[in-house]
Amino acid sequence: MFFVFKKTNYKNGFSIKSLRLIRRKARWQKKRRKKRRKPNSLEFIQYKNQALATAQNKIAHFNAFYKFKVNRVTIKNQKTRWGSCSKKGNLNFNYKIALLPPHLSDYVIVHELCHLEQLNHSPAFWNLVAKTIPQYKKIKKDFKKISIL
Ligand SMILES: [Zn+2]
Repeated sequence: MFFVFKKTNYKNGFSIKSLRLIRRKARWQKKRRKKRRKPNSLEFIQYKNQALATAQNKIAHFNAFYKFKVNRVTIKNQKTRWGSCSKKGNLNFNYKIALLPPHLSDYVIVHELCHLEQLNHSPAFWNLVAKTIPQYKKIKKDFKKISIL
C-alpha cells in the first residue's frame, strides 16, 4: 500500500500558495492607497507653493517680534496635523494653511514658532503665544469647529 502525499511547494519557508495570497493582498492594499491618495495629492501640488509663501511671510512677520532661530520651513501633506516643530528648529506646516482664514493660519504659525522656545504646551508656552495672539483661546475653539484635516 502506498500513501500519496499532496505535493506542496515551499519557498523560503512559505508555501507558494500563501506567498501568492500575501502578494495579492499587498497589490490590493497598494491599489487602495493610490485611490485614496490621488485627489489629495493633486490639491497638495496645487497649494504647496502658496502655503510656503504664506508660512514664510507670517514667520517673517511674527518672528520680527520673537527673534527665534528658524532652521528649515517645509510644507507637508499630513492627514492629522496643522504643523510640527523639530528639535533642530525645523518647522513643518500642512499645505492646507493656504486655505485657512488669515487669523487661523496666524495662530498655526505662532504656535509652531513658539515651540522653538518651548517644545511643550506648558503655561510658559501659552504665555509666549499670547504675546502676539492674545485671543488664542477663542481661536483654539474655532479650530475645533472646522474639520478640513
Ligand atoms: Zn503644540
